[in-house]
Amino acid sequence: MSLMQTLSRGDRGGAVLDIQARLGSLGHPIDPNEHGNFGPSTEVAVRTFQERRHLIVDGIVDEHTWAELVEAGYSLGDRVLYLRYPYFRGDDVRDLQAGLNLLGFDAGREDGIFGGRTDRAVHDFQRNVGLPPDGIVGVTTVEGLRRLRPVGPGPGRADVREGEALRRLSASLQGARIAVDAGHGAGDPGFLGARGLSEAEVALQIAEDLAVELESRGAVPFLLRTPSENPSTGDRAARANELGVEVLVALHLGSDEDPAAAGASSFYYGREGWHSQGGKRLAELIQHELAEVAGRPDRGAHPKALPILRETQMPAVHVEPSLLSNPEEEGRLREESFRRSVARAIAGAVERFFAGEVATSDATPGTESAESAQPAR
Ligand SMILES: [Zn+2]
Repeated sequence: MSLMQTLSRGDRGGAVLDIQARLGSLGHPIDPNEHGNFGPSTEVAVRTFQERRHLIVDGIVDEHTWAELVEAGYSLGDRVLYLRYPYFRGDDVRDLQAGLNLLGFDAGREDGIFGGRTDRAVHDFQRNVGLPPDGIVGVTTVEGLRRLRPVGPGPGRADVREGEALRRLSASLQGARIAVDAGHGAGDPGFLGARGLSEAEVALQIAEDLAVELESRGAVPFLLRTPSENPSTGDRAARANELGVEVLVALHLGSDEDPAAAGASSFYYGREGWHSQGGKRLAELIQHELAEVAGRPDRGAHPKALPILRETQMPAVHVEPSLLSNPEEEGRLREESFRRSVARAIAGAVERFFAGEVATSDATPGTESAESAQPAR
């Protein structure tokens, strides 16, 4: 089943009943008087679920929140898992990856997507414990895994592997392949400023400036869209993966209910129990450079389960250098010199990332707090 339309406060019907049942079984109780009716307690349940899953917290069940509700409903052993296309996705896959990683098999990042690396880890595991190495995760393999599963958490193989990948990064930007993804595109303007500037337009301008900046420092940038395109998130991620880029920078503009709010935020892939070390380090460097070079107030680097960050295999950051909801910031975004200084700051951060540097903690005050901070779309 797939979700046909976005559901929010005031909607009624079978689809609402379905999400209420899913929320209830995930431990988010709904007021029985709201049966089939998207009322206040349903909205609270959706928000709590979104917060727990590091999603955008808006109380609205769109395609992405719906997919997460479905994935959250799977426990390991509920269904037979194996490598197929489209890949199996769900919390059962994530538990499988975590279990394999803890035992020293390399299932890759714990993203809940059953891809090639997870398949190889399953084969390795089966061979090691004397099971037929067929790559099929059914009752026998799940039982085998549960018997061997170490007690308590520890550093998983995914963390070790990410650490190794970071150490293998080229030590300079020379020849480094970098994906630059301008958010939104043709037919999807993204956030619109009060004076009519669109997020899609500015994101592309900054992306182009960033590509020029990166190239002048010896890197090989790839823009993931042209002005007339708007590829799906899946297509953008697939392209970055196929290009074998070492880093991805996705550019968006933020928005805030308070029109006076100003500054920059960055987001890296993270969910309960796991985050990308490389993504975090790059996000913190970007925040630091945006403050130092472009004078941007620091709204922090935060973990978030955004699709572009989850679907890509390399350290990836979603950057919002400015808030388009602030009329003053909108005015500055129209200035070429301002956009260039933002691009210079991000390029500088990418360069420092390749040099193995980390942001000094005193320069990123927002990093510790604001768990609730979240990107605009
Ligand atoms: Zn956006």
